[in-house]
Amino acid sequence: MIPQRILLWQRNDLRLHDREDLHRAIATGAAIIPLYCFDPRQFGTTAFGFPKTGAVRAQFLLESVADLRASLRSLGSDLVVRQGLPEEVIPALVEELAIDAVYFQAEVTSEEKAVETAVTQALRDRQVTITTVWGATLYHPDDLPFPIAQLPDVFTKFRKQIEQDSPIDQAFPAPIQLPPLPAINPGDLPQLADLGLEPVTPDPRGVLTFCGGETAGKARLQAYFWKADRLRSYKQTRNGMLGADYSSKFSPWLALGCLSPRYIFEQVQAYEADRVKNDSTYWLVFELLWRDYFRFVCVQHGDRVFYRSGLRGLSIAWKQDWPRFEAWRSGQTGYPLIDANMRELLLTGFMSNRGRQNVASFLTKNLGIDWRMGAEWFESQLLDYDVCSNWGNWNYTAGVGNDARGFRYFNIPKQSKDYDPQGEYVKYWLPELARVPAKFVHQPWMLDRAAQKRYGVTIGVDYPAPIVDLAKSVQVNEAIYQAAINSIVAH
Ligand SMILES: Cc1cc2nc3c(=O)[nH]c(=O)nc-3n(C[C@H](O)[C@H](O)[C@H](O)COP(=O)(O)OP(=O)(O)OC[C@H]3O[C@@H](n4cnc5c(N)ncnc54)[C@H](O)[C@@H]3O)c2cc1C
Repeated sequence: MIPQRILLWQRNDLRLHDREDLHRAIATGAAIIPLYCFDPRQFGTTAFGFPKTGAVRAQFLLESVADLRASLRSLGSDLVVRQGLPEEVIPALVEELAIDAVYFQAEVTSEEKAVETAVTQALRDRQVTITTVWGATLYHPDDLPFPIAQLPDVFTKFRKQIEQDSPIDQAFPAPIQLPPLPAINPGDLPQLADLGLEPVTPDPRGVLTFCGGETAGKARLQAYFWKADRLRSYKQTRNGMLGADYSSKFSPWLALGCLSPRYIFEQVQAYEADRVKNDSTYWLVFELLWRDYFRFVCVQHGDRVFYRSGLRGLSIAWKQDWPRFEAWRSGQTGYPLIDANMRELLLTGFMSNRGRQNVASFLTKNLGIDWRMGAEWFESQLLDYDVCSNWGNWNYTAGVGNDARGFRYFNIPKQSKDYDPQGEYVKYWLPELARVPAKFVHQPWMLDRAAQKRYGVTIGVDYPAPIVDLAKSVQVNEAIYQAAINSIVAH
């Protein structure tokens, strides 16, 4: 039966380009009612008591929803905005507007799927058809050369197989016109305070002034690819930590679906045709494959990505050491590389990939702290929080991922030397070390008293002494890890 009125429920697909649900809805000729629903469960607290959506990300979300509304209005439609549980809001709208179809993009992880199930159940006794589409990844699951249940355990195997055997579908075009909304109060956008959050001003030292929404996401792509022409050198710069252009910074827009990966892919192709095709243009797409991979891993393994024992089912004796966790999350561990990155996250909501790998390794391999506390803190603070990428990456760095290859850790002094040899990054975020020479800036505890005085930093007063011995702590935690592996072997 052809629907007459379609409710388009938007979640992490806050854009008009490359939307299969929108495209299909338009093809029916039905009236379309786009909805965004602020679900209070997204603004509660995590299991360890952190705000589930920190204020920086919430602000980005509000901007993204506002941008979507403006775009819909410019095409003759509008966005209905509500605050409440989708399983209550949607049936109420269905009733009020005699809606006979609901379209939305399916998610893959437990909380998101639970909401979908609740909505479906609440609509059970009504004459409503429900249509779900897939829209988050570069590769469509239907195009994979294997069933998701047989997803390779190792990323490289996954990548090689899909690169060889799978097509990337074309992005759906953005509509140029939309039917008007039926008579309804579209509703006001909430303020941060309505979501229980205090307004924030991100630190001006942040890598970029991130503004939510499809318009700003596309502008960032224009700036990075076409104006600054940085795609050509992405592979050489992507491990940086300072500045706007060492990497694309697309992740916050990808996480909310303001940018679609297929759109980015098509822009890479255009760049390759127009400017240059090289290792760097390939590498950006390569990174998008990691994003796909983690999403498919979550489909394959379900809830296990959230378990303490991880995808691999390893019973590691993690600690829940709150004082040390506090030092980690506030950037007070005494290791400048860790502290600078953690302060950047706290003050701006962003951290480079290099930083994330180091701080996650330090938390789990040096402090031996329950990796889920770190993952939840990232969930709370990251501007680009994406369930699958976050929990998937934490599984891997904690050594509980499905391809865990023994006890691997980041050597913090070596990483500091390799990626911040002059200490520019750490000085940027740790002004108390501003005058310390490069030779000591990653190990300020080595300065004797006279030198501390000379360089204006007293260890233990202005900047903490190291909270843990790196070499010894790695040994201890490796033994704990090994015990968990042995117990699997013994069973
Ligand atoms: C512990 C940990 C937690 C992380 N949590 C998240 C998260 O919640 N959300 C998130 O988007 N990324 C996460 N990442 C991956 C990665 O750090 C970010 O995607 C990247 O730093 C974002 O910056 P960018 O957009 O400039 O990346 P670029 O280097 O420009 O890469 C382009 C895009 O590729 C994707 N990508 C790159 N690296 C990865 C990766 N390792 N895993 C998955 N996708 C990747 C992202 O979508 C990114 O926007 C995490 C990594 C670690 C180690």
